[in-house]
Amino acid sequence: MRRNEQPKTEKEERSVKTPNERKIFRQARYRRKQNATSIYFLLWAIFTALSLVIVLFSAFTQRFVLIQSYKEQASLEIAEKGKLIETQVSGGAPEWTGGNYSGYLRILSQNHGVNIYILNGEGKVLFPQEPNFDPESPEVEKQLDFSDEMQTMLNNLAEGRSVYEGNGEYVYAAKLEIFQNTETYLYVGKTLDLIATANSRMNVRMALISVFVFVLSFAVTSAVAGWFTNPISEMTKKAHQLAQGNFDVDFQGANYGREMVELAEALNFARDELSKTDRMQKDLIANVSHDFKTPLTMIKGYASMIIEISGEYPEKRNKHAQIIVDEADRLASLVNDVLDLSKISSGIEELKRETFDMSAYLYEILDRFAYLRETKGYCFETEIDEELYTCADEMKIGQVLYNLIGNAVNYTGEDNKVFVRLKRETPTAFRFSVTDTGKGIKPEELAGIWERYYRSKDVHKRPVQGTGLGLSIVKTILERHRLQFGVESEVGKGSTFYVIFPLVTENA
Ligand code: ADP
Repeated sequence: MRRNEQPKTEKEERSVKTPNERKIFRQARYRRKQNATSIYFLLWAIFTALSLVIVLFSAFTQRFVLIQSYKEQASLEIAEKGKLIETQVSGGAPEWTGGNYSGYLRILSQNHGVNIYILNGEGKVLFPQEPNFDPESPEVEKQLDFSDEMQTMLNNLAEGRSVYEGNGEYVYAAKLEIFQNTETYLYVGKTLDLIATANSRMNVRMALISVFVFVLSFAVTSAVAGWFTNPISEMTKKAHQLAQGNFDVDFQGANYGREMVELAEALNFARDELSKTDRMQKDLIANVSHDFKTPLTMIKGYASMIIEISGEYPEKRNKHAQIIVDEADRLASLVNDVLDLSKISSGIEELKRETFDMSAYLYEILDRFAYLRETKGYCFETEIDEELYTCADEMKIGQVLYNLIGNAVNYTGEDNKVFVRLKRETPTAFRFSVTDTGKGIKPEELAGIWERYYRSKDVHKRPVQGTGLGLSIVKTILERHRLQFGVESEVGKGSTFYVIFPLVTENA
């Protein structure tokens, strides 16, 4: 990462070295946090936007459907009325009107709720005429002059359409034969005013509904978002406490949905693991420092003894010097084990996988125990299939086998017997196992033995130096290799530790 680049993740942030840079990155992280939108707001925005979209969509579709059906209705009505009026007006003014054709048309207009005009071929209104009709009045002229629309009417009639949507009206048009010498047309119009009124009413209604939806979604989101965010905020608070080393925190997700329950469970699991690691680390430090102290005290004590007492007595001096060497060895192997474990479990050390002959390698390892056979009467009974190749980190696997055989030596019975087997099991796997004839491991202790610094309370003779980290190292190495391993033990009879290796060809 370049210097002026800001880290995106906390991992990158941790990789930054100087305190000043770290401070800058912390500030950047704080700013990022400040800029992040809260779930509360997001939920509210999404909810409101969605409700408004639904309201608007339904309002528009409603309006469309309504207007469409109104228009259909209006055009059917005008067609029906138009036909009726056509028959009513084509015979001229009936007798009871006293020949007042204009009055007759006005009565029909009122009765049918439509506008009825008789026009000449140029669109001039012939009937009805006001009694005091002033052709000079521009208003009357404008109102009653259809010359602009006449062409539309003629076109529609020519195409055989008697009903059409005119200028703000639904029109029924027909050619009439009233006067012999003049072309006359019937114009029956029904205004579309109602649509405009319905439209504006709907606009008002839509505005009101939108406000209502806005307020409602605000209220609902407040409740819902609170329901969602409260447990998250609560868990965040507890996670901070956990980060500060409070392992008593309890993450609660019940009543908030399955995902919250799972999150709470995961966090509780992380807490348990963290607390276990923390406890183990504290134990490890306590135990390691105790085990460092014991040989150091011995070394110091015997060195003082050589200076003060045994220096002049070669036999005693040599004995004391040997104790110092042994204790120094113990110290060295303890330091090595601690280092090994920390290197393996932190993953600093990569596995160097290669193909090797496990059978030959096992003989080499057994040779390291030869001194026990020769000096302490240990008996190693072996059953080793030849030329079993596997692919693994040879050095690390050597450490595993050495630790397991060393433990068998330490914990075997009075007969000092240790059985080492390397047997082909399937065409693709073989099994290493080491069996002792010791006291075995109690079932309740079986799970614990793989933990760091676990040591049974029972006292054992220990011809091979142990630090209490051996099995933990074995477990870490085998887990990193993803190998199957385990222990079978019977109290009073002994234990068998085993590992299953993949069988590969020599040139794999
Ligand atoms: P160490 O042997 O140095 O104590 P290990 O990690 O190798 O440490 O073993 C942890 C514990 O597991 C031992 O203290 C012992 O109680 C138990 N254990 C290991 N191997 C055997 C075995 N072969 N038989 C009985 N107990 C065993």
